[in-house]
Amino acid sequence: MSWSKIPKLLENEEKNFSLFLNKNRCGGCQVCVYLCPTGILEMGDELNMRIAYIPRVKEGKAKYCTACKRCEYGCPDWCLYILQETENENVANKAKV
Ligand code: SF4
Ligand code: SF4
Repeated sequence: MSWSKIPKLLENEEKNFSLFLNKNRCGGCQVCVYLCPTGILEMGDELNMRIAYIPRVKEGKAKYCTACKRCEYGCPDWCLYILQETENENVANKAKV
């Protein structure tokens, strides 16, 4: 799957990074919600293919993401990814080849 097909939970245009969630890999464990030091994540009401509720960014809080990657490193299902946009474009371009 190319990065361009994985939904973004948030995008920080000023600092040029995005947080992606590979929705159907999420087991709904809430670890990311508890690990985020800025408290911007919460569990939403959307169910995925594993019949798990998936996290979302609290309304209006996206700008507080620091790209610290705690959610990425802590997720037991490896479904959260912080990527710099340039890195993202490179990966997407490679996926097209
Ligand atoms: S990268 Fe850090 S600040 Fe951003 S959502 Fe993940 S844990 Fe929170
Ligand atoms: S830590 Fe990973 S598996 Fe757990 S709720 Fe967050 S995204 Fe889903």
